[in-house]
Amino acid sequence: MAKKTRVTFAADICKGCALCVDACPKKIIRLAPETLNSKGYHPAEIIDQQACTACGFCFLMCPDVCITIEKEVN
Ligand code: SF4
Ligand code: SF4
Repeated sequence: MAKKTRVTFAADICKGCALCVDACPKKIIRLAPETLNSKGYHPAEIIDQQACTACGFCFLMCPDVCITIEKEVN
């Protein structure tokens, strides 16, 4: 069975730059179209958690360290 992964975004510090959107090989990150954070930006969100491979590209690209990736180890 595939290992479970979880990607979460610290929405209030995201500046909506979309670097993570472009970096994701699975194309499962978008800027939330109907949400604004406290800074007035559309924050990144994941749209298909199950498709995430925990590759870490989004995490590496984010200049503001908004992204946390958790991966099941057992
Ligand atoms: S860890 Fe990889 S597959 Fe998962 S959301 Fe980030 S870039 Fe996409
Ligand atoms: S790279 Fe970071 S700051 Fe830029 S949209 Fe993604 S989560 Fe937000």
